[in-house]
Amino acid sequence: PARGETVLSVAKARKQFGGLVAVNDVGFDVRAGEIVGLIGPNGAGKSTMFNLITGVLPLTSGQVDFRGARVSGLTSRAIARRGMSRTFQHVRMIADMSVLENVALGAHRRVGAGVLRAMLRLDRRDERRLLAEAWRQLDRIGMSALANEPAGNLALGQQRLMEIARALCTDPALLLLDEPAAGLRLKEKQALAEVLSQLRAEGMSLLLVEHDMDFVMTLTDRIVVVEFGTKLTEGTPDAVREDPAVRAAYLGV
Ligand code: ADP
Ligand code: MG
Repeated sequence: PARGETVLSVAKARKQFGGLVAVNDVGFDVRAGEIVGLIGPNGAGKSTMFNLITGVLPLTSGQVDFRGARVSGLTSRAIARRGMSRTFQHVRMIADMSVLENVALGAHRRVGAGVLRAMLRLDRRDERRLLAEAWRQLDRIGMSALANEPAGNLALGQQRLMEIARALCTDPALLLLDEPAAGLRLKEKQALAEVLSQLRAEGMSLLLVEHDMDFVMTLTDRIVVVEFGTKLTEGTPDAVREDPAVRAAYLGV
């Protein structure tokens, strides 16, 4: 997508769990080459929003468009194939496999089979292709020196980067990150921010849920604030920081 073009458009997204409205008619856009933050207190509906966007949960009503086409109603796999990828709040890895192999499991999703099949039934040529793709993505984010380390030996910050490399293997236009900076030390956060800025500079779009306000405020181009399932406001980090409603409801000041 050309820079500035709308990549993701969420319109009146609504999700009810029985009588609970977890996401209440929320709308926002993400454009190409932009990092958007989704913030709000616990229970505000952020993870549910991720699940609606990625097709993990069906919407009660509303729409999600991605790269100019309606994707709400499609399976999560179909949506992923169109160029949407995500990382999870808790690192998913096989600790005694190498970093390269852990990343290659992500590359395999592009050809559409399950992880077990990836490990058990690949012929040598496919395996080489997947490992090459994994290497390319590790190299892209400056991690290829760690390719042969057992994933379990990495520090948390490196594991998060490994997960990003894995998500990149499907060559996404949009990457969703669920609390990527949680639990990281300052240096690790800085390394993560550098990688995410680089991806933005390459034209990718990023949507991230994050509680670390310094991280969100310095990295994002725009912030969407939700509370009790409802969008409170949206704006640049500076505008959101100064917004009286945000200060009262979320920052507690
Ligand atoms: P956040 O990620 O912002 O902390 P969530 O999206 O996880 O918030 O949750 C929003 C609200 O929806 C919460 O009240 C939560 O308890 C509820 N909720 C989330 N998932 C489910 C579910 N599968 N079934 C019932 N209620 C849910
Ligand atoms: Mg959550």
